[in-house]
Amino acid sequence: MSLQIIGIGVSRGIAIGKAHILMRGDFEVAEYHIEEETLAEEVSRFRNALEIARIQLREVRNRIPSGTKADIVEFINAHLLMLEDSTLTVAPEHLIISKQINAEWAIKQQRNALVEVFEAMDDAYLRTRKDDIDHVVNRILRILTTETQSSVDIEDHGNLNGHILLADELSPADTVLMQHQGIAAFITEYGGPLSHTAIIARSLRIPAIVGMHNVRRYIRDDETLIIDGYRGVLIANPDQTILDYYLARQQAELQRLAKLQTLKREPATTRDNVPVHLSGNIELPSDVEAIIEVGADGVGLYRTEFMFMNRSDIPSEEEQLERYTDVIRMMNGLPLTIRTLDLGADKTLDNNERPCTNPALGLRAVRLCLHDLSLFRPQLRAIMRAAAEGPVRMMIPMLSNQQEILQVLNLVREIRNELVARGLPFDPTIPVGGMIEVPAAALAADMFAKHLSFLSIGTNDLIQYTLAIDRVDDEVNYLYDPSHPAVLQLIHRVIQAGNQANIPVSMCGEMAGDTAYTRLLLGLGLRDFSMQAASLLEVKSIIKNCDTRELQPIAEKFMHTHDLIERKVLMKQLGIKG
Ligand code: PEP
Ligand code: MG
Repeated sequence: MSLQIIGIGVSRGIAIGKAHILMRGDFEVAEYHIEEETLAEEVSRFRNALEIARIQLREVRNRIPSGTKADIVEFINAHLLMLEDSTLTVAPEHLIISKQINAEWAIKQQRNALVEVFEAMDDAYLRTRKDDIDHVVNRILRILTTETQSSVDIEDHGNLNGHILLADELSPADTVLMQHQGIAAFITEYGGPLSHTAIIARSLRIPAIVGMHNVRRYIRDDETLIIDGYRGVLIANPDQTILDYYLARQQAELQRLAKLQTLKREPATTRDNVPVHLSGNIELPSDVEAIIEVGADGVGLYRTEFMFMNRSDIPSEEEQLERYTDVIRMMNGLPLTIRTLDLGADKTLDNNERPCTNPALGLRAVRLCLHDLSLFRPQLRAIMRAAAEGPVRMMIPMLSNQQEILQVLNLVREIRNELVARGLPFDPTIPVGGMIEVPAAALAADMFAKHLSFLSIGTNDLIQYTLAIDRVDDEVNYLYDPSHPAVLQLIHRVIQAGNQANIPVSMCGEMAGDTAYTRLLLGLGLRDFSMQAASLLEVKSIIKNCDTRELQPIAEKFMHTHDLIERKVLMKQLGIKG
């Protein structure tokens, strides 16, 4: 009988293979008393285990394939650093001696104390850092309990090529080794989409499902499994019809991906020879690699606020300058659009204690920056100075009126004079553009276009504010509709205002990377899209099959009609499902 279990799909793809169950997480840690005369021996047993853990992790680091994303090496380095940290080295020794307890129990006690601190944190990302402590502590515990020098990593389990691994949880080190072992996919009982393991699975392109509680109770070793990483579905022991269906999907997926790869160096030009710009969105410098890899024309949105989050201090002008310069160098001459801070709403600083009843409508993004110039000025200076190194545009988020635009432009002028006076290299002609994320800005787009060098439509917020739906509230997610006539009319208005003023208009919200809307947006006149790297080639393949002369009248009609039957017909012509 086949069985279907649902978890959280964190890494896309279909995998079919035999199950391999890893039970190593289920070991009991005993507590026992250590006699005074053998305490030194127990401490040295603990130190020895730490040393073996270090050797093992260094070995894992050496096996990371070249060309792997830098953050994977960082995860392993972070675990190695933890093995040098006194909270995991000195503190357990004190516990062994002061309480006369065994090394296993001491490290477990210390782990519990540390995890308690992490669990009390509000930030979901930081809460997942407790996983790192567990990964390191479990490694030490396994060494202590097996008392062996041999590797405690998944390699102990023989040839796993093509297998689907089921574990309680996996460490980043395990995930790296899995790629070496040719593991087809993995499932863990714990973890979420923000866990390091999930992040690594995505960048190694291993299909993965997490949070599938107790899955190992229902699955036997060597049972045939299907993993659908898109939907987070596991099918055990499938019948031939299901198997054939997934084999066909897997084949089609492989063919589709291989075909997309051939588009990397091809221009994104429509059938009627209209050139389209395709850029990428980045949050961290390490994201640049993926953008270059898919042959993007540049970066249309660099969300700099991520540099300010998950830390207790504000990055200085020099630190920012260094970071932006690194990105510019990685871009190797391709244009980079740096967005100034968009903090507030769902993205907050660690020390932000300001209560706010309606954060999405509050002091966020440029409002916060203009309110606190000690935050804004160093960033403007850093961006303008970095721009001396390559083609950079500066983009301001959440502008809503003329006053804000003039204030920003004034500040830019002031900083220009300041930098001249200080004799520092900078780009005096850096283009300053604005994001159109507020309906008022879209309606007043011609005024925006008059003052700014370019516009970029942020549909994530524009849709949120136009339809009055909180973008992070699941309960109203059903109302989120990028194809709502009101939204489309606003988008169209912005594109037209840009065209009339002869300035570029791009779109960098999620809608730009959603293949369902590529035809519609082309029909509305959009010629510049910025999105996450993973969507770029797929969007390009659609563009190459479009004729804008055919799409324009359909899109314009669709933007004005509320008639459900007519909408259905037009949606079909535009390739929008639903
Ligand atoms: C947007 O609002 O569409 C956008 C790109 O900005 P963010 O998602 O960072 O708010
Ligand atoms: Mg936004």
